[in-house]
Amino acid sequence: MDPAPHRVLRARWVVPVSLPPLADGALVLRDGVVAEVGFWRDVSRHWTGPVVDLGEVAVFPGLVNAHCHLDYTGFAGQIAPTASFADWVKSITSLKGQWTREDFARSWRTGAAMLMTGGVTTVGDIEAVAELLPEVWEATPLRVISFIELTGVRGRVDPHAILQAAMARAGALRHGWSQVALSPHAPYSTVPELLRLVAAASAQRGWPVSIHVAESAEEFEMFHAARGPLYEWIARNERVMSDCGGVTPVGHLDRCGLLGPNVLAVHANYLESDDIATLARCRTSVVHCPRSHAYFGHRPFPFASLVRAGVNVCLGTDSLATVERQPAALRLDLRAEARAFLAAHPTASPQTVLEMMTVNGARALGLSGRAGELKPGADSDLIVVPAAGAAAGAVAALVHDEAPLAAVMIGGAWVVGGDRVRPGGETGGRGFGFDSRE
Ligand SMILES: [Zn+2]
Repeated sequence: MDPAPHRVLRARWVVPVSLPPLADGALVLRDGVVAEVGFWRDVSRHWTGPVVDLGEVAVFPGLVNAHCHLDYTGFAGQIAPTASFADWVKSITSLKGQWTREDFARSWRTGAAMLMTGGVTTVGDIEAVAELLPEVWEATPLRVISFIELTGVRGRVDPHAILQAAMARAGALRHGWSQVALSPHAPYSTVPELLRLVAAASAQRGWPVSIHVAESAEEFEMFHAARGPLYEWIARNERVMSDCGGVTPVGHLDRCGLLGPNVLAVHANYLESDDIATLARCRTSVVHCPRSHAYFGHRPFPFASLVRAGVNVCLGTDSLATVERQPAALRLDLRAEARAFLAAHPTASPQTVLEMMTVNGARALGLSGRAGELKPGADSDLIVVPAAGAAAGAVAALVHDEAPLAAVMIGGAWVVGGDRVRPGGETGGRGFGFDSRE
């Protein structure tokens, strides 16, 4: 940990993301907030305090993971991909039934540590087990927006009661930076009245809303054609199905009044052109989770059409329950999502992917100006990538390479790799801030 509340970081590259990279850049940090970003030659003219020269590295803002389920981290590799989406939902529901509260808590903490090592400093997390809060928040410096998950399939459960229970829990939660919001799970697992109530409650409080939507072909079929495996299974679970037929999942959310600039539409794989126009009109963000998309073998994600329509698209990891088994241990890792995205969308530029994992995610979560970019007033959350060459090479190293990050800072304190940063570091030269990692 680096306790200095007031200091300058100097680096070969400072990449603010919302501005072009700065060669021989400097960041003035004050009380956990970025006070100034500029070239070292300018900052050094008036700066008289301590300087940490990080050397041959690029400094980026901390990454923003817009969609995760930390409490499912321990389900890694437990469910083989299923032919039917409904079967997958049944599998994870069954696994969840076998876990204790402590299993979920351990899983959450493990996932948080994985994200942080991989450079994520802010996460929008879906909380299936809201009882874990605020205990798990206290176990990590990660900034967490915890979306309390709401489901209401069974018609006899009053949506008002579901919302009231969540709000009672949310109202009692306080801990540092982390905050709560609501996530109606998906159109198929909720009823229209619950969506309307969540929209009103969230708008009143200025909260973001996260919802899985148009994730699978079966969900699209359920709303569009009022049939299919998901329709039949959900109907057997006593959901009132009168809202199905003749509408798309996105169209359903729109007519329930849920969509707006505070909403994260997670997945959005199965869209009609009207849906893309709807998302753009409502200024709703879309969260794409590339490894989850590949695991289910969905049809190609309509990235280009969404971007062309002006939709804010950002990246999420989803949970490790939907990452295909690999020889290596599975890890929650937003940079691995970036690589998977580029494998499926090879013409996307590294800069585009960098924006998806920083400023776009911050915008989706209502954190523009505070997270995902290095600018005065932003939280001092940043990551350090070894980079001796050009700025483009540094961006490529972040989004293409698997090499570990050199360090991660949250709120002005080093949370990863701080032992490699020499305290003080008032070298006057270049390349002395980091000890050799060999
Ligand atoms: Zn999810």
